[in-house]
Amino acid sequence: MKINVAIDGPAGAGKSTIAKILAARFNLMYINTGSMYRAVTLYALENKIVPENISEICSLLHNLDMHFQGDNLIVNAEDITDKLTIPYISQNVSSYAAIPEVRERLVELQRNIAKKYDVVMDGRDIGTVVLKDASFKFFLTAAPEERAKRRYEELLNKGIEVNYQDILNDIIKRDYMDSHREVDPLRKAEDAIEIDSSFLSIEEVVDEMSKIINRAISEGSEM
Ligand code: C5P
Repeated sequence: MKINVAIDGPAGAGKSTIAKILAARFNLMYINTGSMYRAVTLYALENKIVPENISEICSLLHNLDMHFQGDNLIVNAEDITDKLTIPYISQNVSSYAAIPEVRERLVELQRNIAKKYDVVMDGRDIGTVVLKDASFKFFLTAAPEERAKRRYEELLNKGIEVNYQDILNDIIKRDYMDSHREVDPLRKAEDAIEIDSSFLSIEEVVDEMSKIINRAISEGSEM
């Protein structure tokens, strides 16, 4: 039985932490699609390409060879994973992620990976666009203040100095841009199961999702 799990939701809802645990538990490949949008943003900023310069963005996309090695994103043979979570990238990524040409290219790459492997993919448009036929779709939310608190602690643990209010402002702005863009905005797929993690631990969310997946697998094997 092919299993694909789609997890969408706003910034900092815990998607990647939860997706990694599910991947290990169900032997799936974890694909963090946000890191792909962050990678495009990193190279665009490094090359001083503004989001309005579509022809330069297209040639940049053409020159980026991306693949995952475990949880790490390798671009043009360089592991750039650690460069992707800095606040400067977070503050700019939504502008590049709104460009239709960027989305078209990355969605194509994501679908190609899912054709080859059983995946758990997290992002904003996985259940609505990338894997419309995913076996399992979850929409993970949490209150913005709770999400900002988690992101703040995560960055501090990585030794990145940040200010809580800046993180909260960034999260609110990013959610707005991601859910109001014209192409593939962030929204819950009609058939996705919504989980609010504001008052749940990571383990509780993983257990809830695992139960749903296990139930479907055992029902499938009985047929
Ligand atoms: O998941 P993460 O917070 O790393 O995503 C960074 C940004 O990439 C999002 O704020 C959004 O603008 C964009 N993104 C997207 N579609 C996805 C994944 C991420 O537009 N599937």
